[in-house]
Amino acid sequence: MSDAAPRRPAGGPSASAPALLEVRDLQKRFPIRRGLFAGVSGWIRAVDGVSLSIRPGETLALVGESGSGKTTTGRCILRLLEPTAGSVRFDGVDLLALKPREMRRMRRKIQVVFQDPYGSLNPRMRIGTIVREPLDIHRIGASRAERDAMVARLLERVGLEPAMMRRYPHEFSGGQRQRIGVARALALHPRLIVADEPVSALDVSVQAQVINLFIDLQEEFGIAYLFIAHDLAVVERIADRVAVMYLGTIVEEAQAAEIFKNPLHPYTRALLQAIPIPDPSRSRERTVIRGDLPSPAAPPPGCRFHTRCPVAVEECRRIEPPLLEVAPGHWVACHLVPGPAGKRSAAAGGAAGRPPGRGGAGAR
Ligand code: SF4
Repeated sequence: MSDAAPRRPAGGPSASAPALLEVRDLQKRFPIRRGLFAGVSGWIRAVDGVSLSIRPGETLALVGESGSGKTTTGRCILRLLEPTAGSVRFDGVDLLALKPREMRRMRRKIQVVFQDPYGSLNPRMRIGTIVREPLDIHRIGASRAERDAMVARLLERVGLEPAMMRRYPHEFSGGQRQRIGVARALALHPRLIVADEPVSALDVSVQAQVINLFIDLQEEFGIAYLFIAHDLAVVERIADRVAVMYLGTIVEEAQAAEIFKNPLHPYTRALLQAIPIPDPSRSRERTVIRGDLPSPAAPPPGCRFHTRCPVAVEECRRIEPPLLEVAPGHWVACHLVPGPAGKRSAAAGGAAGRPPGRGGAGAR
């Protein structure tokens, strides 16, 4: 994606529509064991209090570097991983209270597209069988012939020839394989697709084509997306809102146009400054983030970003900044960003501004 790439037009989902997906204070901890029979010696806090919401037909981009917890968040929402705590409501239904059989039925409405289009397709199955599988499982269509006709239409819709049904995954390019993954996700007419880094394994030119496909399908079917990516450039055209994750928590969330025009958290600014400019005559000020992401088994005290933040102050090492709404719809967790009352006080902010979930930005 380039700087000149057109933004997704404003409009789309209605700001007043009730949320389709509501996640509150989501937590996922993994035990650390030193040996096969050893007890638990610690916990990896992969997701540590994330709240978010998505309206029908809306795209929320969840962005952060590898290890930030964004993929684990997506998997907990889908219940591919069981959350440690928190709540996930979809269309008013408490997903975490559903029995496995009820959850399988619910998966008709919530589908997933994975990062690795090759790894997510069974190499021994023909494409027709792969895309037809969800229709077979949910007994959609009166006969196999009817389901095959549906598969042909799905392949056509994602830009593939229906005759390709008889081919195997290795006969396709990366971009085509991701289109197959999208066709399979579409088969059950989902209302929400969790797209987990769906273009990061693709060439840049193919990325743009697949993003366009996601946008076209959303306009046609009104699907909502939780679009997970490590690169802000990738989500620029598709996102309605962007939530930036760092070490298990959300540190900034706003409308996409606002994030790209007026990023406030130092981590978001550094991610944006890392986007290359295609014009060699132009340059951009760069903030270099020092060091690696700290271990989620022992997140730093105070602001989790303080060990890498170029503008950290003493307070950052001691006090965790709450996520505050600093402008309508723009939430930031940073001591240096003035809160709604003008000056941010960590103590005051902690009492007055914190939505449910330390890393959450959804209770609004
Ligand atoms: Fe940097 Fe401090 Fe803001 Fe954290 S709270 S992002 S360490 S300035």
